[in-house]
Amino acid sequence: MTTHRRSIPQTAPLASYRAARSRIDRAIARVLTSGRYILGPEVEAFEREFATYIGCRHAVGVASGTDALVVALRALDLAPGTVVATVSHTAVATVAAIELAGLTPLLLDIDPARYTLAPAALERAFAGGHRIGAVIVVHLYGQAADLDAILPLARRHGAKVIEDCAQSHGATLHGKRLGTFGDVACFSFYPTKNLGAFGDAGAVLTSDDDLAARVRALREYGWRDRTVSAIAGMNSRLDPIQAAVLRVKLAGLDRANARRAAIASRYDRGLAKTGLGLPQRRPAATHVFHQYVVRAKRRDDLRAALDRAGIGTTIHYPVPVHLQPAYRGRIALDPGGLGESERATHEVLSLPMFPELGATDVARVIAAVKKLV
Ligand SMILES: *Cc1c(COP(=O)(O)O)cnc(C)c1O
Repeated sequence: MTTHRRSIPQTAPLASYRAARSRIDRAIARVLTSGRYILGPEVEAFEREFATYIGCRHAVGVASGTDALVVALRALDLAPGTVVATVSHTAVATVAAIELAGLTPLLLDIDPARYTLAPAALERAFAGGHRIGAVIVVHLYGQAADLDAILPLARRHGAKVIEDCAQSHGATLHGKRLGTFGDVACFSFYPTKNLGAFGDAGAVLTSDDDLAARVRALREYGWRDRTVSAIAGMNSRLDPIQAAVLRVKLAGLDRANARRAAIASRYDRGLAKTGLGLPQRRPAATHVFHQYVVRAKRRDDLRAALDRAGIGTTIHYPVPVHLQPAYRGRIALDPGGLGESERATHEVLSLPMFPELGATDVARVIAAVKKLV
């Protein structure tokens, strides 16, 4: 391996700026010269456009994906301490939000083929007598969780369903976009996400008018009318500069997701005979490949060798939430254990994946992986 070759990053939000630089600069300048720096027409326009794109009646822009989850959970008006079930194999934010909303997490195991909530684990938790008020379903890595099994199960037990769509912007199931299946959906626009801002940003989507009104109030001091706090709220508003950036990027989201899918197909073909565990698509779903995650028994060796070859990789996630210092030993866990979540932690590896990743770089990643396994 020649050392003078350019290294390939695992993700590259700067490339998304370069790809649309003049339109993004103009959008930002439009906000700066408008004099409206809190909410206002730019945020409203993005909310309308994103709600239409996903297929929900309402979108409410907030300050981050974490806040989207907190505000959505609070808007559901669950009694303090209510149990909210979700997975341990996710961004810590999913679980942190439950506690920030004054609720109690219950962490369940995953389906090892697709890394999303195992319906059997949820069934086990209900059968074990856990009084679950809501389930946060995480559409991890860019594809749908097993909603066909989870939704009827949750409904039967009267639990609300929150979709964590932070990694699944634009993905579908049975032809409908993720974010339209549960009671409420939460998006993050962290810079590396499929739809990414150039800073923190998030949104809550729902087709429930009352719920949307509560979310809207909660993000701004609980205001019903300006300066009348009808409920105890917070400050978590989407920044209009980020909203302007997101409007530009939303127009290119389908194209960017198609690029990710094309890169994934190249990886699929190139890595087919390597013995690595490759991503498994769920039938009737489109996968938007927020991450292209392979499974390797000797993952750490592979990662180190790729690093020496100038190829960046990431582990999503190196430690499951239930084993993180902040949570270990004090969070309610799957009665069946979290064996699959813990195994995944040791074997998953995210290869370079971003829309601007070129074909020659993809070929270089494939060649390097093949040489090493
Ligand atoms: C990124 C992410 C979040 C948190 O979003 P922030 O905008 O960083 O607060 C929540 N859940 C999942 C699954 C994520 O990937």
